[in-house]
Amino acid sequence: MENVNELSEYCLNCKTKPCQKACPLENDIPEFIKNIKNENYEEAYKVLSKTTVLESVCGRVCPHMSQCMGSCVRGIKSHPVNIGELEAFIGDMAIQNGYNMDDVVVQNGCNINDIKCKKNGKSVAVVGSGPAGLTCAAFLARNGFEVTIYEKYDKLGGILRHGIPEFRLDKKILDNVINKILSLGINVEYNKKLGVNVLLKELSDNYDYVFIAIGANIPWKMGIDGEKLNGVFGGNSLLENNCHPDYKEKNVAIIGGGNVAMDCARTINKMGAKKVTVIYRRAEEQMPAERKEIEDAKNEGVNFLFQTNIIGIFGKDKVEEIECVKTELMQKEGETRLSPIDIVGSNFNLKMDYVVMAIGSTVEENVINNLGLECNNKSYIKVDENCETSMKNVFAGGDVIGGKATVAWAARSGRDVAKYIIDKCIEE
Ligand code: SF4
Repeated sequence: MENVNELSEYCLNCKTKPCQKACPLENDIPEFIKNIKNENYEEAYKVLSKTTVLESVCGRVCPHMSQCMGSCVRGIKSHPVNIGELEAFIGDMAIQNGYNMDDVVVQNGCNINDIKCKKNGKSVAVVGSGPAGLTCAAFLARNGFEVTIYEKYDKLGGILRHGIPEFRLDKKILDNVINKILSLGINVEYNKKLGVNVLLKELSDNYDYVFIAIGANIPWKMGIDGEKLNGVFGGNSLLENNCHPDYKEKNVAIIGGGNVAMDCARTINKMGAKKVTVIYRRAEEQMPAERKEIEDAKNEGVNFLFQTNIIGIFGKDKVEEIECVKTELMQKEGETRLSPIDIVGSNFNLKMDYVVMAIGSTVEENVINNLGLECNNKSYIKVDENCETSMKNVFAGGDVIGGKATVAWAARSGRDVAKYIIDKCIEE
């Protein structure tokens, strides 16, 4: 790591705080960096703690260039301030030195500093322990609620543990973050999958509030020929279950241009595949993946085919070949992004052993449909402006309501629900 004090000196401490405005959690970035400049790391942590409990995680995995760093004034003429590295540094310092979250007066982003409901005896069940669940649980526990997390696996972390590979987020760091959150006095029920080992009715009967944050990790399908062949995987499931075939001497195609596609490509490349090729319909500059992830993938030897669409997968018993077509980009009326259009006659085939679909994900419909909650036409749980579902005092947030699929936005939705519940208790 570069010297953090040098990194922090580069910040201009802009009065208008464009970086804060571009942060989904609205972290007071100039203020925490100012405290790093003064080598007051504990104070920097307190500033961040007002709006987040995932400093060590977000500092490492957020797509900073499309969030805070993308708006940094320094980035206009040169490179932006490395906000992610500074945030991770402070999160790690807090864990190493035991800086106490309880001492933090929660305000600004959460506006919950005059807590009248502390130790109010109210209980909340948080279902799911990804960024939305952990954040909601932490903010509620910090404000006197009795919180119990229900997690379907035997470890907490959700997408942070099962969707982000080790080389992007060291799981020892994640464990430390989770332990710090649990030390707020949060209870955990492991191996409890909603609708299987625990029912929504049980939770709503036994808790004052329920927050559902079970994510959306079922891979989308493209609906092309051969998608059901052996050797076609969903990117999310591959990362979640960590159940890979032997890639040695194999050619692997990764379909998609987001961070999940990059995570899959880099993971499979590191596992010794002969050739990993990312196939993306649009141009490189339109890839939604973080720039750094794309560069890292390239440097590690991952190949890219831009403006290329997969239109078929072929093989007798398993994947043997794929058919692709080149695309041109057109501005369609009413659309902000350029749309890829297949170029007639530009088809070509590639020998392939495995295909990984990383084009997005959706909810586990069989779970969602049995909850008895209203859903929208895309099967996401329907919520009002306060993230309350069609069942009173049952809230939902993060990817399960079709939110913006980044860690920080999921955390924001967990914090917003916590704030709403806290405000509601104050009013009562
Ligand atoms: Fe510092 Fe950049 Fe934020 Fe300005 S925009 S305060 S330079 S991090």
